[in-house]
Amino acid sequence: MAYLPALEDWLAAPGPAAVLAACRELRAVILPAECVVCGAADESLCTVCRIAVRHATLRPYNASAGAGMLPEAENDPGAAARLGAPEYLEPVSLPVTAAGRYAAGLSRVVLACKNHGHTDLLGILAEAMARALHSASDSLPTGRVALVPVPGSFRGRTRRGYDPLELILAKVRLRGLLPAGMEIRSILGYRLGAELLALRSGAQKTLGAGARRRNVHGTMTAGHPGDLRGLTVLLADDVLTTGATLAEATRALRAAGAQVAGAAVIAAVRAPAPQAPQATRQEPGSAPEIRRPRHGHGTAAKVRR
Ligand SMILES: [Zn+2]
Repeated sequence: MAYLPALEDWLAAPGPAAVLAACRELRAVILPAECVVCGAADESLCTVCRIAVRHATLRPYNASAGAGMLPEAENDPGAAARLGAPEYLEPVSLPVTAAGRYAAGLSRVVLACKNHGHTDLLGILAEAMARALHSASDSLPTGRVALVPVPGSFRGRTRRGYDPLELILAKVRLRGLLPAGMEIRSILGYRLGAELLALRSGAQKTLGAGARRRNVHGTMTAGHPGDLRGLTVLLADDVLTTGATLAEATRALRAAGAQVAGAAVIAAVRAPAPQAPQATRQEPGSAPEIRRPRHGHGTAAKVRR
């Protein structure tokens, strides 16, 4: 079921609070909704859950450590210093800034937007993405940066009829939330036919790490060698899992001559911790538990491109 975009987005300028409240009530009458996180009969994201999701994305953090299949960072002598990493630890993984953990309310909002037609939740995800972008831009080289979205799969676009990441980034731009000097450039695509062969229905979820990397390798293109020479890129994706997709996106962009300086995502799925004590450690940006779980919107295992 498709949902109407947020009415407040249709208003050119922020109107009086009373007008916005009336619009929300009108929408609630036209489209009875329940919160995608807690199930309360209200808007599609109730006030309590909206505050919790926002709180969970207030402190973006470097999520690279939890994704074992990320590519290496660019060979930039200044990068380690800017990231606060000692030089001798190189090679380091591509820095990936996540707005929050893929858990609790944030994961349900992402899934509702991606898999259940809740385009009315694009706004809160755009705010989270904007925070990740600003945090990531702090460690980027100065100058112009191309923000390149990881393209949605053919299968995903066909199923949904829209590309959630594309819509989220468009909203970030329309609201004037892009960091200075950053512009969105959709220059990554899938090779004709490669995606259909490699990303067969359901296959990716059940594959091991090596097979998963092979499955996605070579599926993307960003043009001919040299086409993007001199271009600095920050990749954007919605959810970081193993890093295999970002690795392939980075490979394709570097093959075309671009410098891929890092990536920003809305949420990161933390890999299982190697030692038990670390599994319970509080991560910066993690969400407080939000009321009772809502059935039907799934878990991390259901992330689909
Ligand atoms: Zn709620």
